[in-house]
Amino acid sequence: MKYCKTCLQPDTRPNTKFFEDTICPACHYLLITKDINWQERFDIISAELKKNIVRKTRNNFFDCIIGVSGGKDSTRQALWVRDKLKLKPLLVCLSYPPEQVNRRGTENISNLINLGFDVIWSSLSPKTWKKALKEGFFRFSNWAKSTEIALFSCVPRIAIDYKIKLIFWGENPGLQVGDLATLGKNGFDGNNVINANTLAGGNINWLFETGIPKNKLSPYSYPSIKEFKKEKLQIIFIGWLFKDWSQNNNGLYSVLNGLLIRNNNKIEKSGDLIGISSLDEDWVSLNQVIKYYKYGFGRISDQVNEEIRLGKISRDEGISIIEKYDGKCDDKYIKSFCKYIEIPYNQFWENIYKSINKKLFYIEKGIIKPKFKVGIGIL
Ligand SMILES: [Zn+2]
Repeated sequence: MKYCKTCLQPDTRPNTKFFEDTICPACHYLLITKDINWQERFDIISAELKKNIVRKTRNNFFDCIIGVSGGKDSTRQALWVRDKLKLKPLLVCLSYPPEQVNRRGTENISNLINLGFDVIWSSLSPKTWKKALKEGFFRFSNWAKSTEIALFSCVPRIAIDYKIKLIFWGENPGLQVGDLATLGKNGFDGNNVINANTLAGGNINWLFETGIPKNKLSPYSYPSIKEFKKEKLQIIFIGWLFKDWSQNNNGLYSVLNGLLIRNNNKIEKSGDLIGISSLDEDWVSLNQVIKYYKYGFGRISDQVNEEIRLGKISRDEGISIIEKYDGKCDDKYIKSFCKYIEIPYNQFWENIYKSINKKLFYIEKGIIKPKFKVGIGIL
């Protein structure tokens, strides 16, 4: 386990590789974009859109499609595509089932509708959703495995149905997060997102093995590269265009446009440093706890690293925040999750104990303890 010398990203993130063995891809990206002419990037995209993409893609009503959750990133994206790029976007939201979505989540989607957007709200069969989610939890210790696949897949699927060729996503996970398998032919090309750790090349054999009928799983099948080519789909990562793309800035921008965030945020309960992430449900918090036990870092690390890169806190301050909060969330979220997938609370932890990374953690009297020190590595 090695830490980035600039921030506190360990090299345990899937599909990542440090530059010169010392700098994580996200810090490297920041470094090489210091002298970027951002207006030039905007001009490149505008020209590309005008020349090729929009002309090919325009259906009678919409120029492009944007996957939204109603959160900080998607609210900013939607407004920017409409008001700055002057396009007509169709927004697509994959909804969580009623047991999972919270009121804030539905109100944030209402906010987008009130801002004047057309929104398709896609709801999948709740029985299949629950079975797939439970399978993901027991097989990968990641309940969100199937739901993220559905989220990524529904946008190009609906784009194909509506004959829309242009898809916007937010940050470039290859450049801005460090999932290098997703890098495309240039900084804004998102057509390799199929190789992201979550989508694993579109392979859902594990879902077929659950016994869920094949026809019920079509919303979970991401279009193949062949289908992408045939349909002339183009994904553009809009985060590539923004000098000030960050959780804080996107949050601020979106709050000013009606976004509801976590009021009275308690970090040790929400597992969210600023109270503006994954606003539409609460089980992502426990998934981040599991991520911490698998890779030695959770959401707090991701958020702290961005703050360090922006120069808002020092690396040392980051270490104490991560040591205090990473890998924690309110027990009530774990209990409500267990109730939803119908397992006893103990079974949740038994499954987590099985999946912890033994190189990074050990269990003593039922308590999971790290073998590493944040910012340094294995002791
Ligand atoms: Zn870094």
